[in-house]
Amino acid sequence: MLQSILLERKIYASEEHKMMQNMIQDFINNELLEHIEAWEKKGMVSRAIWERAGELGLLCIDMPEEYGGSGFDFSFSALFIEEMGKKGISGPGFSLHSDIVAPYLLTYGTEAQKQKYLPLMASGKMITSIGMTEPNCGSDLQAIQTTAVDKGDHYVVNGQKTFITNGYLCDMSIVAVRTNPGTPQEGVSLLIMESGYDGFEKGVPFKKIGLKAQDTCELFFDNVKVPKENLVGEEGRGFQIMMTELARERLTVALYVNGSSEGAIEQTIAYTSTRTAFKQPIAQFQNTQFKLAECATSLQLQQAFMDRCVELLVRHELTPETASMAKYATTEMNGKIVDECLQLFGGYGYMWDYPIARMYADNRVTRIYAGTNEIMKLVIARGLFKELFNEMKRKKNAEND
Ligand SMILES: Cc1cc2nc3c(=O)[nH]c(=O)nc-3n(C[C@H](O)[C@H](O)[C@H](O)COP(=O)(O)OP(=O)(O)OC[C@H]3O[C@@H](n4cnc5c(N)ncnc54)[C@H](O)[C@@H]3O)c2cc1C
Repeated sequence: MLQSILLERKIYASEEHKMMQNMIQDFINNELLEHIEAWEKKGMVSRAIWERAGELGLLCIDMPEEYGGSGFDFSFSALFIEEMGKKGISGPGFSLHSDIVAPYLLTYGTEAQKQKYLPLMASGKMITSIGMTEPNCGSDLQAIQTTAVDKGDHYVVNGQKTFITNGYLCDMSIVAVRTNPGTPQEGVSLLIMESGYDGFEKGVPFKKIGLKAQDTCELFFDNVKVPKENLVGEEGRGFQIMMTELARERLTVALYVNGSSEGAIEQTIAYTSTRTAFKQPIAQFQNTQFKLAECATSLQLQQAFMDRCVELLVRHELTPETASMAKYATTEMNGKIVDECLQLFGGYGYMWDYPIARMYADNRVTRIYAGTNEIMKLVIARGLFKELFNEMKRKKNAEND
């Protein structure tokens, strides 16, 4: 019913998209949903499901075929993310692996790094993570304290990362380290750290209010020897690389919640059509109709913006400001939509077995991770006042000269 009143998503309208969508839906319905409870109990998904996703070509969808990817453009990756969001599948961190870690290697990695890691990543035989956040710094990434000391042909890494998605299962992590302690931005570099390296330890998965099947954990580095060839991009360019790549990461979060909003509304239409009170379906109360009409309208606005953002990303034209607007707007809206929908489920909406309850708990973090929504507003505002801030900087530099 919802689909029939929403505008057609032109970005997903091709025959190839439709075929991919059917395959994704089969995979979710037949191979993922049944495992959610077991994965939640264990605090992580199985390695087998990663390999299965790899077999189906659902990992690294937009990576060139020469590296084992599926060779599609990002709109196919976006479709996968949205379908996962619709059904609230939050355990396997496929998107972080495929849409965040893989592009770091593809864009900034050496040919040897690409050959070594990307085919394994596309097959699901290697699971990856990205380690930026530390116990004492998340929003302020310039303050990272993990050090990598240059020892000629290798670095020695010491420090700790926290809240790392796919952390417990990961075989490899791209880790932000400080290679030059004197300079806040320029001193940050990115290193490939394999989990088998001596001195690389993992914490146990965190107990979280949601994302219970996601193996988010800490990573510890105690005198880990990392070969120089594991440097991703130039030494000292890590901060700039992260800031560039965060636009893509933020869009993936926006797409997930966009799918989630659609799934939440669909479930609620179905539930309120059959649940009765006062001898009539809940859907017949004007309050129910108005709430869902408001949610559907918000979703429609959100989808139109998402489609434009996906087009821009496919053309490598998505700016940090637009990506921040997308992440901020969609996650706030999803918070409201899921909350309104849950209310219409009454007491059942509070029960874990109901997907709407999981969405409520899972999605809260989308306003926090990939940069908090306060940081999103800072990025947008910096764009608004760019000229003024540049002028102030120029004046300050001139005074100091
Ligand atoms: C489930 C989960 C998964 C995650 N996965 C990863 C991952 O895979 N890799 C990774 O590196 N990190 C990951 N993170 C970390 C996440 O990105 C950080 O938690 C987030 O960036 C916020 O950092 P923080 O927790 O240190 O909060 P803080 O930076 O301490 O912020 C605390 C509060 O202060 C506000 N604040 C901070 N600075 C400002 C400012 N300048 N202006 C206004 N308000 C401000 C924030 O918005 C927030 O409300 C994950 C986190 C969670 C919870």
